[in-house]
Amino acid sequence: MYLYNSATHKKEEFRTHTPGRVEMYTCGPTVYHFAHIGNLRSYIMEDVLEKFLRYEGYDVNRVMNITDVGHLASDADTGEDKMLKGAKRENKSVMDIAKFYTCAFFGDCAKLNIKTPDVVQPATGLIDEFIRVVSVLIDRGYAYVAGGNVYFDTSRLSRYYVFNDHDEEDLAVGVREGVEEDANKHNKNDFVLWFTKSKFEDQALKWDSPWGVGYPGWHIECSCISMKFNGEWLDLHCGGVDNAFPHHTNEIAQSEAYLGHPWCAQWFHVHHLNTSSGKMSKSKGEFLTVSLLEEKGYDPLAYRFFCLQSHYRKGLVFSWENLDNAAGAYQKLIKRIAALKGGDGQVDESAAAKLKEKFLTQVGNDLNTSMGVTCLYDVLKAPVNGATKLAVLEDFDRVLSLSLLEKAAALREQEAAQAKSASGDGGFTIQGEGDPAIDALVLRRAEAKKAKDFAGADRIRDELKAQGVEITDVPGGAVWKRV
Ligand code: AMP
Ligand code: ZN
Repeated sequence: MYLYNSATHKKEEFRTHTPGRVEMYTCGPTVYHFAHIGNLRSYIMEDVLEKFLRYEGYDVNRVMNITDVGHLASDADTGEDKMLKGAKRENKSVMDIAKFYTCAFFGDCAKLNIKTPDVVQPATGLIDEFIRVVSVLIDRGYAYVAGGNVYFDTSRLSRYYVFNDHDEEDLAVGVREGVEEDANKHNKNDFVLWFTKSKFEDQALKWDSPWGVGYPGWHIECSCISMKFNGEWLDLHCGGVDNAFPHHTNEIAQSEAYLGHPWCAQWFHVHHLNTSSGKMSKSKGEFLTVSLLEEKGYDPLAYRFFCLQSHYRKGLVFSWENLDNAAGAYQKLIKRIAALKGGDGQVDESAAAKLKEKFLTQVGNDLNTSMGVTCLYDVLKAPVNGATKLAVLEDFDRVLSLSLLEKAAALREQEAAQAKSASGDGGFTIQGEGDPAIDALVLRRAEAKKAKDFAGADRIRDELKAQGVEITDVPGGAVWKRV
């Protein structure tokens, strides 16, 4: 595939260090609050990228960190630790906050069909490794101790600004803006590897280290976690575009200083989801979550569809109107798939191969997901039988993950139940919030009850409850709502 590489500012043919294998790293969430749908835009696009690489036949090892310590309110090593802020806000311990929001994050990912990476490593689980790498950086003269903290010495690098073509002075001013200067730093871009002198006496998580009791800086965790689980040669590193500087810039500095050779070949940055008032951000406090979309009656996969309709390297403006349009188009697409007849013959392998070839070329052109969605409509219009269409749609959905066939089956079941009910043959009427997947479960529960499989019916009720759905039996049917 061809992919834009932010480190070279060019679209390049994707290559890997070991043929056939991709070592992929993703910056994970800072778990002090719910992920907002902007964060999740990044994770959706990274998920499609991973699945496309697998679709192309690569064996992918995807690693993700969970930031549960060290990420300060400002990326320039100042401000309060975000985890501590979250703990204070909710009057809980930092570890409770981390556990709760990590769980919530993967719950949201599941609703959006985002696959869990092969390795997920919380930062607090690898502190000894961070200390070891920082010690090596000091030994090799890339880091120094000042005022109790350990800093990375950026003056030792021949090139620091990898992602930006800006003038260095302009950037440095940007770093300093609104941020008090740390007098311990030898150079304006130096950054903290290990804090001992925290301004925050109540810093909750601290570990012993050769430089005193303290905690790691934010950037070191990603370098160490990647080097441990991806090895020395990273093929692909992902994150939102706000991570490029200083976070990824500092990751490169540390990793290459430690390894003594180039580290990551390919950088993939997803641009922001914006609202009319700017970037959606957790620290602003006002943001949209997957649960909120559900409360408003949206299927989370309609949001995934909305994201796939635009290119990852362009900012995406969120508005309810835009989401409504995407949700409508998604529903229509499912309806068209539900109307296909699969039992009408054999899959035409040569026609399927042609459709797949186009999909590979289109999506393989810098992860053009909107063309990937267009390919779905091409399949629906193609002069081939229903069996072929369904097989190809299922195949493309390995990458797009829109649950196309499952949703279509659920819609067919629902329509069949409604038709049965309308014909008055003891049918079952469902009143809900218009989610065919939930309707299908409700119907299955009714069927289980009819067959006197009460344990099965209870299991389905519990499953619905776990998804936040409450169901009430009424004469001739059931009513459900999200609570
Ligand atoms: P955080 O939990 O703040 O560490 O962010 C998790 C991921 O979401 C990182 O890769 C960020 O770069 C990304 N991100 C943050 N805000 C947005 C946004 N508005 N749109 C897209 N991605 C974002
Ligand atoms: Zn990171």
